[in-house]
Amino acid sequence: MLNSKLVDNKLDFMRELLEAYRQAGLDFNVPVIGSPAGAWMVVNSKRVLNFCSNDYLGLANHPALKEAVKQAVDRWGVGAAAVRFFAGTQELHLELERRLADFKGTEAAMYTQTGFIANLCGVTALLDSQDVVFSDSLNHASIVDGARLSRAKIIVYEHCDMADLRAKIKEHLPNYRRGLVITDGVFSMDGDIAPLDEIAALAEEHDLLTLVDDAHGEGVLGQGRGILHHFGLEGKIDVEVGTLSKAFGVIGGVVAGKQLVVDYVRAQGRAQNYSTATTPADTAACLAAVSLLSDSTELVDRLWANTGYFKTGMKKLGFDIGVTQTPIVPIHLGEVSLAKQFSARLFDEGVFAVGLGYPIVPRGAARVRIINTATHSRGDLDFALLAFEKVGRELRVI
Ligand SMILES: *Cc1c(COP(=O)(O)O)cnc(C)c1O
Repeated sequence: MLNSKLVDNKLDFMRELLEAYRQAGLDFNVPVIGSPAGAWMVVNSKRVLNFCSNDYLGLANHPALKEAVKQAVDRWGVGAAAVRFFAGTQELHLELERRLADFKGTEAAMYTQTGFIANLCGVTALLDSQDVVFSDSLNHASIVDGARLSRAKIIVYEHCDMADLRAKIKEHLPNYRRGLVITDGVFSMDGDIAPLDEIAALAEEHDLLTLVDDAHGEGVLGQGRGILHHFGLEGKIDVEVGTLSKAFGVIGGVVAGKQLVVDYVRAQGRAQNYSTATTPADTAACLAAVSLLSDSTELVDRLWANTGYFKTGMKKLGFDIGVTQTPIVPIHLGEVSLAKQFSARLFDEGVFAVGLGYPIVPRGAARVRIINTATHSRGDLDFALLAFEKVGRELRVI
């Protein structure tokens, strides 16, 4: 028999951590979705207007993508059956990579299992312990983990602060073999856009490598083609990382750039090379998504029209929506308890918008964060604005 007391004490650190999270307002009672993605969804068994998904263009439940998946399963089966470099690269993968490179206007692209893996591959391939990475303080967890895994020295610069970046490059770069500047394109908690033109210029001046993670920019900025098109910086950033799981509505990541860069990352990307390739269904759905976005900007235009309408309405009501330049809209509330309460009351009123607090955002900067999409109708947006107004007045936020 095991000594159950001893075994139990051994796990106390887990209890303590989970209790600390609970006290900080993180209860891990995640909402459970009972319907396909869309403007209206069933969440915890209740039909509500959805403002929480990254499905910017409504492709996650699009008929063209669903049809592509059905055909792919009949033609290719359900699994790739091997890692990409061994025996798992299917014709579908190569076709998608060509289409992605065309769409982004790069020489080449590599399709990975997720955006997280794309960052792990990109960052670890470029650097090792002789190198330095300059990383924005609000960069995504997958960038942070890629940097840690690379064993390069990590220098964090103040969020979007080019004077701080310049000073830190001058101070640290001389001590290392090579350097990389790495940034999210669109920051997912505030909706602001990295000053990529200035970053590119600084990098050129100091002969630094550059990587941008455009997870929230693809399908959104630059008529849907992403942040490089937004700034007119095509070819000026060494590595473009992205995801097929947000605006593209499916799953997967992408590393794009010059042929040389993509070949190199493909050769060095352990997270990709030792993990099985994406399924034919996913790959085919991504292909259909890229086709849709290559053919028309209609969905992107609708996304921006909805975003403009909603933001104007929220500002008129007197909410503090911060510095957003994109469809991501934070509603700043301060304390996490208020953000949770606000979100719960919105849910009662039929609107799904989660409250976020520390450690996802800084302490005292809790918020309800919503994401506009092309799926919402004008009536949906009016419904949401009414709910925000009602709850905002009730909780004395406006
Ligand atoms: C969502 C996200 C990722 C991860 O992408 P997945 O495809 O979901 O793994 C990476 N970077 C940023 C900035 C993201 O927002």
